[in-house]
Order: sequence, then structure tokens, then C-alpha cells
Amino acid sequence: MTQQGLNRDAGRNPAIPPIDNLDKCRNILACTECQSPLDMAPAVTQVTCLRCGKQYPIISGVPVMLKGSDAAAINIGANAQPARSVLRKLPLIGRFLRWVLNPPAGLINVAAAENYRCLREMLSGLDHPKLLFVGGADGLGFGSIHLGQKLLQSVINTDVALMPGVDLVADGHCLPFVDESFDGVVVQSVLQHTREPKVVVDEILRVLRPGGCVYSEIPFLQRYYPGYDFQRLTLEGLEFLFRDFEAIRTGISNGPASALAHVGAYAFAALLAFRSEAFYKILVTTFRWAFAPLRYLDWLVKDHEHSVEVAGGFYFLGRKQQGAH
Ligand SMILES: [Zn+2]
Repeated sequence: MTQQGLNRDAGRNPAIPPIDNLDKCRNILACTECQSPLDMAPAVTQVTCLRCGKQYPIISGVPVMLKGSDAAAINIGANAQPARSVLRKLPLIGRFLRWVLNPPAGLINVAAAENYRCLREMLSGLDHPKLLFVGGADGLGFGSIHLGQKLLQSVINTDVALMPGVDLVADGHCLPFVDESFDGVVVQSVLQHTREPKVVVDEILRVLRPGGCVYSEIPFLQRYYPGYDFQRLTLEGLEFLFRDFEAIRTGISNGPASALAHVGAYAFAALLAFRSEAFYKILVTTFRWAFAPLRYLDWLVKDHEHSVEVAGGFYFLGRKQQGAH
């Protein structure tokens, strides 16, 4: 959404990257190897660090700013593209079957909308806010629509994969930006996919200006998501991870009803599948449909003092303190 028309324009003439996409990053990019600022003025197909000589390709108008080898992340991007299904060729039945075979995940986010509105309020006094999404994938985070059009247009969206909606391919462990470049950073449901979340959080601290805001969510009681899923955190764990920030709001993003509906579907399927992969998949789909309505109970229990003990996920909204590095 932050680079509408990017692929269309790139398709017309791949040698000419969309100007607005590169303009967003101009003057704030830094080399991932030597941290020198990069001049993107002559950028067409690649950016070169004048100090260490590292070359960063620009693919379909998107700078690929990864430390070391680029190949791994680009391959992830290729895998992340939605697979073409035979069902797409069957308009009505195909659409119905896709709906039946993709039941709700059983999770409801009871905090994101309010937290994004709070973030918008915190950044409202700025004429030209700069907001970074780390791992925003192809749709930014759930509830980000509540940032409003002005902030959404200021977003630089990064991910380790090349996909529509990503302005810059980058790894949160080594953000390719000069210090204190941003007024806000969002890393929503991403840190569980990082090998070293503290390194990512330290990078966020580095690229935020003093007084800048950070918003994060991370799962607690949720199933393992196959591929690059490394950790879960309690609320204490999340607050400790962001200990170098001033906490503004922290709490439950997915409550205990979400945890029960989401994990329960997979747990019952695993218990009853009797080692049959096909039966397991049928049971998962069935139980996800059966348990999904439970998640709405989170609106009733999200503020209960014991909900934090069995919640599906947590959030942290904070601010970089003056003098923090
Ligand atoms: Zn360099």
C-alpha cells in the first residue's frame, strides 16, 4: 500500500525505479558493513558505498540492503509469494472451497486499534514524520489503518523478503539507516521470527530519535508457525526486552479466549489424528471453524487480572528516552 503501482511501473520499464519509493529513503540510508551514509542520487540499478565499496542492488525499484549475502532473503521472498491454485480457475466453487479451507486463525486483537491511535496522537505534532515498519510484509501490521493517511504515507516498510508493499529489503538485526532517522518504529508480530530479538530492539533504539516511539507485539500462547519461528514471550519478558525504552502502555493484544481457540484447535487435532497427516489437516480445519467464535470472549476478559497468565500475545508501546543510545 505504500508503493502502489510499483510493480506496474517497474513492469513498464524495470530500469526506472519509482521515484517516490527511493525518495523516501534518500539521506537516511547507511551501509550495513561500515555504517557510512549512502548517496542515492545516481541510483538506478544499484547503490554503492563510497567508503567500503559494498554494492546493493535495486530490484524493481526496491533497494536490497542486506548484510553479507543477499541470496537467502531473496529466496524467502520467492517462497512467500502466494501459490497459484487450480481453484483460482473455478470462480464460484473455487471461491467457496477456499473460504471453507481457510478458517479463522482463532485470534482477535483487542489492543492494536487503540494502540495505533495512541501512536498517531504521539506523532501528531510533527510536520514530516518518519515511521519505520520492521517486517511489515505486504500489508503492514493489523490495525495500522488507524495511523491515518498522513502517517501511512510517511511509512518506510522493510522486510527480509522482496514482495509487493515493501519499500526496502532489510534485516532487523542490521537496519541500513543512519542513527536517529525515525520518529517511530513498528515491529508487530515480528520479533518471534528473529534469531536475536535484543539485537533487533537495540537497532530500533539506534535509529529512533530521542523521544521517538516504538510499538511492538509478540505472541505468548500461540502455536508454532513452521519456518523461522524462534520464541514466545511473557509480558514480563517483552517489557524486559524493551527495558531501554520508557514504557507508555503495555498489556494483552490477544487474550485467553484467543489462546484457547487458536491452540485448542491444533491441540485437539494432534490428539485425535492418530499419526495420519491427512486426518490431522481435516481436524485442524474442522476445529478451527468450531473454536473460532470463542475468540470474541476476549473483549469481556481482556482486563481481568489473571488474563495475562494465559494470554495469546502482548504489546509494548514506548518511547526512546533522552540520552539513550
Ligand atoms: Zn560501506
